[in-house]
Amino acid sequence: MPRLSEVIAALDDLWPAERAESWDAVGTVVGDPDQEVTRVLFAVDPVQEIVDEAVKLGAGLLVTHHPLYLRGTTTVAASTFKGRAVHTLIKNDIALHVAHTNADTADPGVSDALAGALGLRVVRPLVPDPSDPGGRRGLGRVCEADAPLTVREFAARAAERLPATAQGIRVAGDPDAPVRTVAVSGGSGDSLFDHVRAAGVDAFLTADLRHHPASEARAHSPLALLDAAHWATEWPWCELAAAQLDEISDRHGWDLRVHVSRTVTDPWTAHAASSRAHPSPTATLPGSAARAPLDPESSGAPN
Ligand SMILES: [Zn+2]
Repeated sequence: MPRLSEVIAALDDLWPAERAESWDAVGTVVGDPDQEVTRVLFAVDPVQEIVDEAVKLGAGLLVTHHPLYLRGTTTVAASTFKGRAVHTLIKNDIALHVAHTNADTADPGVSDALAGALGLRVVRPLVPDPSDPGGRRGLGRVCEADAPLTVREFAARAAERLPATAQGIRVAGDPDAPVRTVAVSGGSGDSLFDHVRAAGVDAFLTADLRHHPASEARAHSPLALLDAAHWATEWPWCELAAAQLDEISDRHGWDLRVHVSRTVTDPWTAHAASSRAHPSPTATLPGSAARAPLDPESSGAPN
């Protein structure tokens, strides 16, 4: 049975802390290095629901993608929701370890797991890490589809293969346009449009796309956009990471029990589809003639 320090050393080999962005907060948040670990739980978010799941499971270590504290704090009082999580962890002898941007850029990393879930073949990083002579580490991935798809088919595949969320998949672009090459980036991806354009891909699948960057990207090129729930784009990494730790455990004869949380922690919990076009194709404005149907390609819908 390994001690926490041994398991953490193995995780640090996979995702060295020095490869995290300077603004990030990765590594061990809670934990006694000398404590023995038998069960590990992987999850995207270190929220109370996940901490409670770790307690129920009897986990000695919770590994999450998102940091608990990204900025400094002056309190871990249980009256705050983050402090409550810290209290629950310590009272139940559960360590918390975070691999965030150091897991994003790893080889394999978060976007490799996303590409794998979507059945795409990874060609190269979207934004290569200049410190990697092998050219395999970096942010996002440029991928190829195994067989040509339409945008509609690719969106249906993403909706089917990524874990289900209230959001589902939002799509921008001609549904019948062919998709052969795709850029993917787990988590918020709208800072990557310059790289996506330079890669010359047919589609970009990521999360948290905002109105203006998406609108400008569509104006520049026929690039199709697929916007999934942030949590859903990063969850496949939990399975990848768990498999990596399983393999390490086997190699060391640790006999760790490694689990992946299936709890959906995306903050969006419901989705109401619009019940009619806006304005409805036959709507008339007071005193005006009947309006033509709204062009579905138009981004200029009123509101
Ligand atoms: Zn994220």
